[in-house]
Amino acid sequence: MEKINSSPLCYKKGKLHFDNIPLETIAGKVKTPFYLYSEKTLLQNYNHFLESANKAMICEPLICFALKANPNLKLLKSLAKNGAGADIVSGGELKRALDAGIKASKIVFSGVGKTKEEIIKGIKAGIYSFNVESIEELEQINLEAKKLKKRARVAFRLNPKVHAKTHKHISTGFKTHKFGILKSDILKAVKNKKYWTHTDLVGLSMHIGSQLTCLKATKKAVKELGLLANEVNRPLEFLDVGGGLGVDYGPEEKKNFSTPYEYMSLISKELQSSFYKNYAFDNQTRIVFEPGRVIAARAGAFITKVIRTKKSEDCFFAIVDGGMNDFVRTSLYGAYHEILTEKKGAGKKVKTDIVGPICETADCFGTGRSLPRLNPGDLISVGDVGAYGFSMASHYNMRELPKEIIVSSKGKLS
Ligand SMILES: *Cc1c(COP(=O)(O)O)cnc(C)c1O
Repeated sequence: MEKINSSPLCYKKGKLHFDNIPLETIAGKVKTPFYLYSEKTLLQNYNHFLESANKAMICEPLICFALKANPNLKLLKSLAKNGAGADIVSGGELKRALDAGIKASKIVFSGVGKTKEEIIKGIKAGIYSFNVESIEELEQINLEAKKLKKRARVAFRLNPKVHAKTHKHISTGFKTHKFGILKSDILKAVKNKKYWTHTDLVGLSMHIGSQLTCLKATKKAVKELGLLANEVNRPLEFLDVGGGLGVDYGPEEKKNFSTPYEYMSLISKELQSSFYKNYAFDNQTRIVFEPGRVIAARAGAFITKVIRTKKSEDCFFAIVDGGMNDFVRTSLYGAYHEILTEKKGAGKKVKTDIVGPICETADCFGTGRSLPRLNPGDLISVGDVGAYGFSMASHYNMRELPKEIIVSSKGKLS
């Protein structure tokens, strides 16, 4: 058996398998294109992340899975059973998290544009924390809680003024970005009693971006968070260090990737050195994480079929039935994703552009890939799509949304 990183995909006797089931068998039952998820891989990643936190002596880690990476109900139920919480950014995600059995006491609500209705829903549900992104938002949460005769739990999301080196669309921690609040504004608001009549400050949070590889910015931001906790100078139930740990998608991104353990160790060390002296950090302050990608990416593959091939001078196109409406990361971010053919193929490789049917040039899963000569009807797998895959799908070109199929931990398809 040839193992391909830690993904559920591998070749056996020259044929592509997903969690040990021949892709051909699965595609015989489901119309392409579709997403295929491995519950086993998802839980392995989740458990590995949690174990790494424990190993790095992180205090009472709470893993709030970022729903926007993958809000599939069955997968969320599985994470919920394993103790996961949720990081949500909308009323829709709040409902989905609760429907999946994630306890409100494990839900944190991020996002700069929480509406009045969403705030009310969050207060009524009794969520663990509103991670507030402006003083104006704090004011509104306080007001809505007052009207409901309840108290709301809030944490400030710090804008640590760091430049996370990632794609510009997913870097979120600099002062020109719309996210978080500057330290000086937080310290002023903490002291202003008018914001706290119906709210309780229970924590501090941050999130500086996604697909982080170099952890320099993370280190700096975590330190800022610890220093702020010192300056706030009151007991805090938790510090939320956000998500963002990157995933190695393949050969085009030759960078140094950090393991969850290296990531946890760095966080643990920074918090201890910047925050240890504070009375709140006598191992009472729990650490919250909001990972999405690192938990879900590897657990998914996108399966699509060649409609026809096309030769145009030096270019060889495989036109597939999946498009950028189904999976947009390659078009939107120029992201690299591994592409595997159903049959390993021993013959000469052909430089192939894998393109979809959408009327946009960006509708492309990979260019110049060395693949066995493809023919109409052949299956292709786009790998590591379990995060920001289906959750970003649209109906563009009036296309149907792709199906989602899960291979359960017991090897059953559903
Ligand atoms: C998107 C997001 C996350 C998850 O980011 P990943 O890169 O998937 O780990 C966590 N927290 C917040 C506030 C987010 O917006």
